[in-house]
Order: sequence, then C-alpha cells, then structure tokens
Amino acid sequence: MCAAMFVGLAVWSEISSWQAQVSRMNSYLEQTAKAIAQHADDVIEVAKQPLVGLVLQVRNNSDTMLQKLELVRTMRDVTRNSPYLRSLAYLNADGRLIESTTNAFSAGVDLSDRAYFIHHRQSEDFSPRADGPFKGPVTNEWFMTLSQRLNDRNGHFAGVMVATIDVRMFINFFKGFSFPGQATLAMIDGDGRILVRSPMDYSAMGMSLNQTPFYRDALLKKSSGNYPYRSPFDGVFKESGYYTSQATHITALVAISQKDILWYWIKLSKTRWLFSLAAMCAAVVMTLRLMHNMAMARRDQMLIAARDAEFQLIANASSDLIEKLDDNGIREYVSAASQSVLEIDPGELVGKSVFEGNDAEAKQYWSEALANIAAGSSIERLIFRRTKKNGEKAWLETVITRVRRFDVGSGMVAITRDVTSQRLLQEELDRLANTDELTQLSNKRHFNTQLRLRTAEARANGTPLSLLLMDVDRFKLFNDTYGHLPGDTCLRRIAAETSATIRHGTDLAARYGGEEIAVLLPGLNEEEGWDMADTIRQRIAALEIEHAKNLPWAYVTVSIGVATLTVHQHESDEALFVRADQALYKAKNSGRNTVIGNESNLAAQTNSAA
Ligand code: GH3
Ligand code: MG
Ligand code: MG
Repeated sequence: MCAAMFVGLAVWSEISSWQAQVSRMNSYLEQTAKAIAQHADDVIEVAKQPLVGLVLQVRNNSDTMLQKLELVRTMRDVTRNSPYLRSLAYLNADGRLIESTTNAFSAGVDLSDRAYFIHHRQSEDFSPRADGPFKGPVTNEWFMTLSQRLNDRNGHFAGVMVATIDVRMFINFFKGFSFPGQATLAMIDGDGRILVRSPMDYSAMGMSLNQTPFYRDALLKKSSGNYPYRSPFDGVFKESGYYTSQATHITALVAISQKDILWYWIKLSKTRWLFSLAAMCAAVVMTLRLMHNMAMARRDQMLIAARDAEFQLIANASSDLIEKLDDNGIREYVSAASQSVLEIDPGELVGKSVFEGNDAEAKQYWSEALANIAAGSSIERLIFRRTKKNGEKAWLETVITRVRRFDVGSGMVAITRDVTSQRLLQEELDRLANTDELTQLSNKRHFNTQLRLRTAEARANGTPLSLLLMDVDRFKLFNDTYGHLPGDTCLRRIAAETSATIRHGTDLAARYGGEEIAVLLPGLNEEEGWDMADTIRQRIAALEIEHAKNLPWAYVTVSIGVATLTVHQHESDEALFVRADQALYKAKNSGRNTVIGNESNLAAQTNSAA
C-alpha cells in the first residue's frame, strides 16, 4: 500500500518534471524563433535603406549616361558596405537587367517573367517584397531577394531594384543558439513558402506549407506559439516554437525532436534519479528491517505469552503458592493457592511486598534470603511461622529461585507450601527421640547433648551451672516389695514432682538411668543449686509414697549429689558429672534422703531425719 503510494508519487513527480521540461523547451523554442524573426526584420530593414536611397536616385537622375554611371557606382558602394547585401540589381520597365553588382547576369538579360517583377509592375505599392529562396546559377549559393518598385519622375513604372540576401546569414545567426540535440530552423514567408531551412535541405527550399495543418491551424491563427508536429522531411516527432514578424510577415519556426528533449531531460534527471534511487533503496532496506524487527518482536511476544500462560497454568494447578517477584520482592504474579496457603486472594497480593503480613522473625528470614539472592545465590530456602486468621500459627516453607531468562524477565520465583503438619510431626518425632517413655522426662542421650551445650554456654557467658544427680533410695527393695509395675508408677510420680519443682523452660530434668534422674540448672550457683536439690528431695518425701523397707522413713526418699560449674572453673562437662556422681555417692553413704553438694556445702546438709 505504502510502496504503491510511493511509486505513484514518484511517477507523478517524474511526469510533472517531464511536462515542465517540455514546457521550458517550448518556451525556449518560441523565444529563439522570435529572436530569429526579429533578426530577419532587422536585416530586411537594414537592406531596405539603400534600396530606398537608390529608388530616389533613379527617379530623379537616371536620364544621362553620367547619371547612370553614378547610379552603378553607388550600387556597388552600397553592396560593398552592407553587411547583409549579397548583390544589387536594377531592372528597367521592360524587365531587362540594366546593372548588377554580380557578374551572374549580363546586362540586357530579360527578367520580366520573375514573380517580383510582375508584382511590382502591377502594384502601385512601394513596400519592398521578399522572395526566394533562389539558387545562384554560378555560385550555387542560396539567396532570397528583396525587391522594390521604381517610378520615374512622372510617376510611371520605371523598373525594379532587387537586392539579394544570402540565406546562410540567417542560418549562421541560428547556429549561435544552442539546443540539446539538433534543432531545425525554417523561415516561411507570408504565403507559406519556405525561404530558409537549416540544416540545409534543397528539396525544402521554396516548398509551400500553405496546405499543411501547421499553416492552417497555427500560423494563420496566432502570430506566435508552439506547435508539435511530425516532420514531413524526416518523419520525426518534434516540438516547435514559431514567431511571425508583423513587419515582414516572415515566420521563424524552430523545432527539436522530442527524443532529443527526452535525452536532455534524462541527462538532467539522472543525478536526481540516482539520489531518489538511493533514498528508495535506503527506505526499502529500512522498511524490510523494521518489518523483520516487528516480526521478531511479535514472535518474542507470542513466545512470552505462551510461556506466561504455561507458567500460570502450572502455577494455578499447583497446591503450592507460586509467586513471581521482582528484584525487590514485590509480587508480580500470585497463583490461586494464595487462598489456601495465606488465606488471601491472589489479586490482593499482586503489587505487594513479600514482607507484608509477616512477623519480625519471618521478615528477618526473608530479608536475608533476598540479600543472598541479590548477592548471586540462585536458590534460597526459608521456613517461617505465620499467624493465620484464626490465630493459629502455620509453618510455611518457601523456596526462592532466581530467574534470569528473557521470557520471564529478571526477578525471582517463590514457591511456598504450608508445612505445619510436617513440622508438628517432626517436632513430635524430635520430642519422642529425646524423651524417656516411662517418665516423660528427657532421655539420657538428650541430656548428654544438653549437658555439653549448657556447660559451653555457661563458660562462654560466665554464668554458673548446677548439676543434680538424684537416685531413689533402696528402690530394688521397693520393686521386691510392691512389684515392678508399682515401681514404674513410683518412678513416674518422682519424675512428675521433679518436673513440677524445677523452673519451666530453663531447667532440664532427664532420666539418666533406671531410677536415676539428672537435673541441669543453668544460672544457679552452689547454694542455689543445693537449695533446689533439697526442695526436690523434700517434695518427693512429702509425697509419702509407701516404702516400708526404706527405714527410718517408710516412704520413698531420694538422695541427691550436687556439683556446680562456677564462673572461675574451667571444668569439662565430664568432670562436672563425675563430681555430681561423687556427691551422690557421699549422700548414699551418709544415710540417704540427703543432698550433698561441694565440700563447703556439707555443713549445710539437711537431714530430714534430724
Ligand atoms: P540404693 O540406691 O539406695 O543404694 O539402693 P537401690 O536398691 O536403689 O540400689 P540400686 O540403685 O543398685 O538398684 C536399682 C534398682 O532400681 C534395680 C532395679 O530393680 C530398679 N529399677 C531400675 N529401673 C527400673 C524401672 O524402670 N522400673 C522399676 N520398677 N524398677 C527399676
Ligand atoms: Mg541406682
Ligand atoms: Mg537406688
């Protein structure tokens, strides 16, 4: 469409340019014709002047021989001095040549049959008459005549004065004009006869054009103008300009073939065409490139749309929450699962930050994960808690993957799933793995781990840590007396009482052996540790679980050894344990139902029996 318009415009522009060229050329041809016609006027006018002078001389003084000689002399002077006259001839009333400045005709020759002679003899008109062209009988030169009637003193016809003008003069003048190609000139008299033709064509000389459409349609109607025609001489189609002199009625017709004008126009237009062609080529190349780029962009867009649709399809079909995030963690796409995972509509989340709606701890995890991604990590995993609408805490696990692909753009894809049930299961498994089944206290393995951790912690913080080792007194006898199952029940009650006594969340009680319980008391010094141990001892005793063979009390009692890791002691956890064990051993040896601490505490021992 565009190309068609462009071509149409170019064709139209070229047609206008060609028409302008033809019109310019026509105007030039007409101007040239005018200049030549005016030149002919000038020549005839200049040639006429001596004729008029001679006519007067003949009328007044042509009687005597002397006067005749004088006339001949003047005629020769005039011819010699005129730039235009070829010759002058004088014919008497009978048409005989009296005198000629050329030697072409000898005196006495009868020229009464000449058209100009017949005309002047019959016509009283004194205006000069142009005739021709004629060919000189000797010199073969083409010439035209300018003739003038002569009257004698009495007003009777006395002959004709004839001037001849060389037609080459007009041709030479015409050659002074330059044309793109070969131009032809024709000079035509008032009756339509060709006076002069250039290039010289003898067959054309004297030919009458009065039957041609040019003569009828143009020349007779308008004194100047343009006339395109097919040349009767060479058959070539021509543009022409003509001008008819009002003074002499001579018409100059200057013509040039349309082919020459066309070549000239092509020559002038070539540079312009080259530029246009270059511009057109550039336009075509640019258009093709643009179209190619547009096609590529369309293809990319379709690819992206297809991938996007595929991504969204997968995302929406998944029970996991799938989100597309930009580099700052702003959500660009949220899958339908946000409803089940976050209890929020996907539409409400798009454009919002992933930090929104999370507690401080979760925000911290997120910001660390995003910082890692920004630093170059390609995948990050985080587990955090989120409070649901009903106030319950849910555990969420998010895997963030960095994306650097042209079709999805840069940013991240975050896949989040609710892991609350797995998390609770895991916690339960962990708890079970660390718990003693009978007493529900921590087991020995967990205790050992905690002992290592807490002693390291105490040393690092410079805080004290007390360790109690507790053993049920004469428990073998209990079993023997009451049976194994009541023994188990007894152990459970002792464990429960211990748990109830120690500080919840800080201290740790563990079943260390069969009927041995170890208690970790972080932050408690020797005295405080001993006090806690003794409180436990007293509360277990206060349960008064019947144990007839545990005399003197007859109820269940325990012995406890205490060891404290003080601020200044750089003791290993094993050494601490050994000291607690030694203290317990001492407690057993000192009568049971006793708490034994470090040496300094011995004095403060309490014996409920006392
Ligand atoms: P003492 O410590 O006062 O010196 O005397 P004891 O009788 O308690 O001596 P010991 O510590 O050697 O005996 C521990 C007994 O605890 C042996 C075993 O019958 C009993 N026992 C250990 N584990 C369990 C248990 O899980 N359930 C029951 N019912 N009894 C247990
Ligand atoms: Mg024991
Ligand atoms: Mg025991």
